[in-house]
Amino acid sequence: MSTHRSWAEPWKVKMVEHLRMTTRAQRESAIREAGYNTFLLPSRLVYIDLLTDSGTSAMSDRQWAGLMLGDEAYAGSENYYHLEDAVREHYGFREVIPTHQGRGAEHLLSRVAIHPGQCVPGNMYFTTTKAHQELAGGRFVDVIIDEAHDADSSHPFKGDIDLEKLQTLIDRVGAAGIAYVCVGATVNMAGGQPISLGNLRAVRALCARHGIRIFLDATRAVENAYFIKTREPGHADRTLAQILRAMCECADGCTMSAKKDSLVNIGGFLALNDAALAEEARNLMVLYEGLQTYGGLAGRDMEALAIGIAESVDFDHMHARIGQVEYLGRKLLEAGVPITRPIGGHGVFLDAARFLPRLPRDQFPAQALAAALYVDSGVRSMERGGVSAGRDQKTGENLFPRLELVRLTIPRRVYTQAHMDVTAESVIALHRNRDRIRGLKFTHEPRHLRFFQARFDPVEGDCVLVD
Ligand SMILES: *Cc1c(COP(=O)(O)O)cnc(C)c1O
Repeated sequence: MSTHRSWAEPWKVKMVEHLRMTTRAQRESAIREAGYNTFLLPSRLVYIDLLTDSGTSAMSDRQWAGLMLGDEAYAGSENYYHLEDAVREHYGFREVIPTHQGRGAEHLLSRVAIHPGQCVPGNMYFTTTKAHQELAGGRFVDVIIDEAHDADSSHPFKGDIDLEKLQTLIDRVGAAGIAYVCVGATVNMAGGQPISLGNLRAVRALCARHGIRIFLDATRAVENAYFIKTREPGHADRTLAQILRAMCECADGCTMSAKKDSLVNIGGFLALNDAALAEEARNLMVLYEGLQTYGGLAGRDMEALAIGIAESVDFDHMHARIGQVEYLGRKLLEAGVPITRPIGGHGVFLDAARFLPRLPRDQFPAQALAAALYVDSGVRSMERGGVSAGRDQKTGENLFPRLELVRLTIPRRVYTQAHMDVTAESVIALHRNRDRIRGLKFTHEPRHLRFFQARFDPVEGDCVLVD
């Protein structure tokens, strides 16, 4: 008898939200009007929305109940203390500064911890993180292992930091030339790839020798903890909560977009151990976010967040969450679609460079593929490649990172396996008909984070996907 058993989601559906179906003609005109940028599509014209896992999760009945317990006091809201307790318990940092979302925390940290001219090494960049580091006068330096830039490497911890690259940087600019090391867990731009606890501890030891601080981008640290538990020898018997604490013990603080791991639609925090640094951050916070006990959030948001943090470390939840991503990824791999491997934590990343090898990089193959996928089936995805990377600050030239990806990001607790089947069928059909996808050129290019608002036209004809 086979011992194999299927798994299923550890929840059932209590309320449904209807999805709208569109025709191909409607989608062709919608994407044209959106300048071939999936960020500019109205969501009412989207069928399955895999743009992002940010703020798109389904909250639990307990979180919704928590909304009713909002203490909307300007100062000292009860919900703030619940949030503080939850962060202290699960992330282990003493000073908790709520922010409206992750980039609010990144702004505060960058302003108080970077002196102009300093380097900020990190395991691959993230868009908003790097932008705030640069606005504060810092210079991001990528010290991730080489395997992370290779979509086809099956290294289990592609988020690891290359200790030699970090040491070389320290030798070159000195410890004083480094603001802090910014460690992403998991690494979004590498395809949701985790960092190992062994590597994080080695980075901690190296930084401790030089008196350099480490700040974690903890946005998906619980997903990272799941990979440590299931992939890294010696951690199988530990809980996600224990592993998360062990990760945070390697850092001096973290920034958090609670719209991801923590299962809320809005929210974030900056958490620190250094009281003096926290004091500086709170000084800026009252200018940019709100009073220190709400930071741009309503009391009810903080309550839902406190509950979401506790739910996020439940193993069955995380097993189903990452299991669903893996389900979609495996279907695509079996059909020969090029995707980033190993399959990441929060999404499946199509390798657009190999998917569309005949499109030159300056025709933005990933942007074109995301637009074509929408036209084919109404599935919304996102470009993560040349458009997201922007231009070199000094030369003004387009940056073309090695990875040219389309991200199919899976919201937590929202879609079923059948939605994954429909998505896979559309991607596989496009892959078979890939010669019908046309490249794109800019018609409008914003200066900051251009991918959000950029507009394009096909380089030839008037549709990105021809029959
Ligand atoms: C989303 C995200 C951020 C920024 O958070 P927002 O809540 O979108 O402002 C920072 N880092 C990573 C890794 C993210 O995925």
